Amino acid sequence: MMSTKTLSLDSSLVALDRAHLIHPVANWRDHEQRGATVLRSGKGAWLRDADGRELLDAFAGLWCVNIGYGHESVVEAAARQMRELPYATGYFSYASEPAIRLAAKLVEIAPPGLEHVYLTLGGSEAIDAAVRLIVQYYNATGRPRKKHFIALERGYHGSSSTGAGLTALPTFHRGFDLPRPEQHYIPSPYPYRSPVGGDPQAVIAASVAALREKVNTLGAENVAAFFCEPIQGSGGVIVPPAGWLKAMHQACRELDILFVADEVITGFGRTGPMFACDAEGVSPDLMTVAKGLTSGYAPMGALLMSERVYAGIADGTPAGALVGHGATYSAHPVSAAVALEVIRLYEEGGILANGQRVASHFEAGLRSMLRHPLVGDARSRGLLGALELVSDKYTKASFDPALQLPDRIAKAAYENGLVFRAFGDSILGFAPALCFTPSEFEQMFERLNRTLDTVLDQPEVRRTLA
Ligand code: PLP
Repeated sequence: MMSTKTLSLDSSLVALDRAHLIHPVANWRDHEQRGATVLRSGKGAWLRDADGRELLDAFAGLWCVNIGYGHESVVEAAARQMRELPYATGYFSYASEPAIRLAAKLVEIAPPGLEHVYLTLGGSEAIDAAVRLIVQYYNATGRPRKKHFIALERGYHGSSSTGAGLTALPTFHRGFDLPRPEQHYIPSPYPYRSPVGGDPQAVIAASVAALREKVNTLGAENVAAFFCEPIQGSGGVIVPPAGWLKAMHQACRELDILFVADEVITGFGRTGPMFACDAEGVSPDLMTVAKGLTSGYAPMGALLMSERVYAGIADGTPAGALVGHGATYSAHPVSAAVALEVIRLYEEGGILANGQRVASHFEAGLRSMLRHPLVGDARSRGLLGALELVSDKYTKASFDPALQLPDRIAKAAYENGLVFRAFGDSILGFAPALCFTPSEFEQMFERLNRTLDTVLDQPEVRRTLA
């Protein structure tokens, strides 16, 4: 039981939130009605809310707290750096030791060929930097017509004013005058709903053909780059067949366009290896990372760049001119110190290896959910996975949005002490921390089963089932 004092403190917090704090990706009026869910603390895979309720976090915050909550050594690393030097600019050729060491470390662990690193405040800014610097690259290397960008339908590449146009989710376009005329999409490699059926080779061939066709329509001389997530996260955890990434990379080579891997979610062990590109031996021209880089303990992202792109910009910049891209907090020393310790925990602390070890429990748990009347598809790679709910397993029909199934599920899950992401189209996304134990997976799937049963028992839901 909470004391009266705590309760009144929390209700006044909710009132202050309602009055003043604008939340990301929210219906502002709905949020005012609903009020904030205030979280208080975390340890390992577990969260505690302001009412003292324990929650198993099967989404690692926002697919970012890959090491789990409460690692003292990360807190120490941040505190040490804050005491010594809380801030150092990267402008005017200044630098700090953790930023330099982090850039070198990222090059060491990244796919071969990525030699240069620009450190940002998060994923959206890394994408924004990629777009700006690709434009700069083609201008600097004498091909100024290459200005068109291609991405995947249902892709998510953040919400900067340019990057949100590469994101192919209507919520991020509505009212923002996006996408821009130079931003284009091709269909997702979505085995469960692919028009060519679920055959892996057919799905891969369809993607390659769609990319070729789009580039040919626009003219290769006008196309700058193809952006993709190795596994699409916010679009519904769409897991392409093995070999897809390699085939798309190869197609970009042949079409003479840059290949950008957005590993903001898939990086740092989320799908098994350190980066999803590693699984297919792909060395992208540019790669964006964030989230697991600091495991959410401090804000930071990064853009990694090949020698070819770096040298194109460096050598194409007129003598004495500046490449005008940067921010006060680029390469922030405290975030860099945090990232270095987090990467040490992945490697020497055994967290990456644990994630690889327990992935079979996650996959088996998701597969076992296929028995549930609501579940049409279960898919995962490493510790990134989804269940897709359907009203008819045979036709794969979705649910009427008026039923508000995702809200019902999120609410029931919370009551069962489980947190994950219930997407608008009845896809449930999971990204447990790499520190999960087999017993935590058992608890997760037991709570998930109970949650889906609760929702299935609601007459309005049961009525819609085939
Ligand atoms: N790219 C991908 C693949 C993401 O999933 C995200 C965030 O979810 C971003 C970019 C944007 O990152 P951030 O939210 O740190 O700006």
